[in-house]
Amino acid sequence: SNAEIGLIGLGTMGAALALNIADNGFDIAVWNRTAATTKAFHNDAGELAARITPTETLEQLVAAIAKPRAIILMVPAGAAVDEQIAALRPLLDDDDLIIDAGNANFHDTNRRAQEAGDKPFLGIGVSGGEEGARFGPSIMGGGQRQHWDRVAHILTAIAADYDGTACATWMGQEGAGHFVKAVHNGIEYADMQMIAETYGIMRDGLGLDHGKIAAIFAAWDKGPLQSYLIEISGKVAAATDPQTDAPMLDVIVDAAGQKGTGRWTAIEAQHLAAPIPAIEAAVVARNLSSQRDLRAAGETLFGTGPHHMPHDTLSIETLEGALIAGKILCYAQGFGMIAKASAQFGWALPLPEIAKVWRAGCIIRSAMLDDMADALAADPDGNLMHAPAFATLLKERHGQLRQVVAQAALHGIALPALSSGLAYFDAMRTARGTANMIQGQRDFFGAHGFARVDGGEGHHGPWGS
Ligand code: NDP
Repeated sequence: SNAEIGLIGLGTMGAALALNIADNGFDIAVWNRTAATTKAFHNDAGELAARITPTETLEQLVAAIAKPRAIILMVPAGAAVDEQIAALRPLLDDDDLIIDAGNANFHDTNRRAQEAGDKPFLGIGVSGGEEGARFGPSIMGGGQRQHWDRVAHILTAIAADYDGTACATWMGQEGAGHFVKAVHNGIEYADMQMIAETYGIMRDGLGLDHGKIAAIFAAWDKGPLQSYLIEISGKVAAATDPQTDAPMLDVIVDAAGQKGTGRWTAIEAQHLAAPIPAIEAAVVARNLSSQRDLRAAGETLFGTGPHHMPHDTLSIETLEGALIAGKILCYAQGFGMIAKASAQFGWALPLPEIAKVWRAGCIIRSAMLDDMADALAADPDGNLMHAPAFATLLKERHGQLRQVVAQAALHGIALPALSSGLAYFDAMRTARGTANMIQGQRDFFGAHGFARVDGGEGHHGPWGS
């Protein structure tokens, strides 16, 4: 009865997290709905088994943890979390802490925090997949600060390390941690999509084989684009199917799945009126990818392409520059959304700390995030595009993004995320836009009124009858 922490749910993530906790010297008690899994987990834990107490009932689990207790839930987001909380609370003391570490929708975390009342509850976003959970994830915490502080020593110990700084940070009240995790996933969607679009230009436009494409990604991973996603994209492109000896990418169906966290980000952005077109485009691209039959019918009806670009149309350096610009614009949108949510929800989300917590452990870890952390620290309220280091990069690179988007359009290659990034950039550097026409239309058909450039609100046009 002296485990420092408990954990419920020994699936992919929970098992990895429990081993990580034990590996860092903390005694942990575990419970899983299916008892055989608990047994197998303990049997396979090797020398870490000594730090792990397997239990067969929730009562045993609770009895095995030192007071005041802390228990991590790592079960599927949604009803399973509510069921576990309902089953657990009657067995716990009022000051015992429940930590939901799954991918909860932050609205659910807000609700659960309110339902918990005075009873300690945290919602933490854990990023980095199974590997991250086992050897160091990025952790985004939400709830009352005093409750975070109770387990911070464990969470920082198990988190990824970036140059001596643990990637585990308290973000704010209630669902703040799960909100930041959702935006992380939205950015992840867009980062992945932009890489996939660049791959499409290399494959369909430039006609490069997968070996060459893999080498280009590997080279980019040594420059400004250095990141986990570029690294694994190179590895995916390099892989060969053991069954057919074909490039692995040639045997993978081009329909992308999703668990919904990117979609939540897009939906929430609409509620917040936060412009994140590149992230929304990435969600759309996944939905569109699933419409395989319609795409095939479209190709039959309209033909595809013309894809092939003369070999000097776009250089690899131009493609790299386009991806750099696209990536900056995607992150500018994501951080802009976080700033907007922070103000709306009264959270005071720490933007530079968010960039820092993403530097290691999570899927979007990249060299650029270190510079983003510096830029956001220097001007937390500014748009990342305006930060001197990124403004310089965008000035150098937006012409390349423009060339890539233009050539792709001419050659019939869809670039939903990169082109949305470019449209955002152009719109955000146009002081006199075209919404005056929208306002004129709205006033014409609905007498909505408009502001005049020479002053005053609520004017109407001479549309008359
Ligand atoms: P798994 O499907 O691998 O494991 C689910 C676990 O939850 C199992 O231990 C299962 O127990 C248990 N469980 C399922 N339903 C219930 C229920 N109704 N009551 C009690 N226990 C239940 O899921 P993951 O480990 O992949 O995911 C867990 C959470 O982590 C999810 O919220 C997920 O979104 C999130 N996450 C996942 C990541 C990943 O890369 N996989 C990355 C980051 C977050 P049993 O053995 O009895 O079936």
